[in-house]
Amino acid sequence: MMKKYFPYFLTALLLLSGQLTAISQEKKVTITVDDLPTVIYADEPYVERLELTKRFTEFFSENEIPAIGFVNEKKVYAENAPDPKEVKLLELWYEHGLELGNHTFSHMNYNQNGFDAFTADMLKGEKVMKKVGGKYNQPPVYLRHPYLRSGKTQGQSDSLLQFLDEQGYKEAPVTLDNGDYLFAVKYEKARNNGDQAEMKKISDAYLEYTADQIDYYEQLTAHVFDRQVPQVFLMHINWLNADVLEELANLFRSKGYAFVSLAESLEDEAYDHPITRYGDWGISWLERWALSDGDASDLMKASPTVPEFILK
Ligand SMILES: [Zn+2]
Repeated sequence: MMKKYFPYFLTALLLLSGQLTAISQEKKVTITVDDLPTVIYADEPYVERLELTKRFTEFFSENEIPAIGFVNEKKVYAENAPDPKEVKLLELWYEHGLELGNHTFSHMNYNQNGFDAFTADMLKGEKVMKKVGGKYNQPPVYLRHPYLRSGKTQGQSDSLLQFLDEQGYKEAPVTLDNGDYLFAVKYEKARNNGDQAEMKKISDAYLEYTADQIDYYEQLTAHVFDRQVPQVFLMHINWLNADVLEELANLFRSKGYAFVSLAESLEDEAYDHPITRYGDWGISWLERWALSDGDASDLMKASPTVPEFILK
């Protein structure tokens, strides 16, 4: 009996494991966290911000999520020198095996300030990371554009890309953007008021909106590439995200995503897709590629809307 059934069992098992492998390899996402050391909506005491940093770094480390944080070093300075307590917040990322990248010193808008001011601000914004990250053999190599403003003309965009290349940097695009800051401001207010019901209402709406955004961007991805490509997800280091990290990770897992490093995502040839349309916009790279390829306005109209009560 055993002999007769074993091969069927084995075949089924192989098929199943093959399918599982196919599913788990199908989609990849990189988690990126902007505006480090922390986003400050209200005057939060240092212990709170230390706790916030620990929540993110410990979660990523325990769940083997190779996330990258993008830093505005201006926030690290007290007077004219880096404040060791603030530097400690950055060090926690390295200690947990995570990477940091440059988000300019003062969160500067490239489109508004131009090449000279922007590149000076960017170089000013790598000093602490070069020193601290150097100890971990991890100097910053990625730039995340504040407001996702990467040049409103081809000339402006090209000159920055060339500068990054000369400096040993790469740009860190964003494909998946869920407008978390819109929800986070309201959430922070509810949290400061100790209003649990309101916090729950906001975080539920946020997770639902994020799920819809992932679906929307997957459709856009299929439209541009006829396949799914590794996504780069943008979020900010705030209490809303800290409180739903587990749910966010499970949301990605339930949709078949594996978490990979930024380097791994950017290896995909999708990230060489040409951009030929420019504007003063902070849209996802998927929308830039879709617009460059032709008319994607119908698809982009399907972009989910933020609930009314959040916008109020
Ligand atoms: Zn930012």
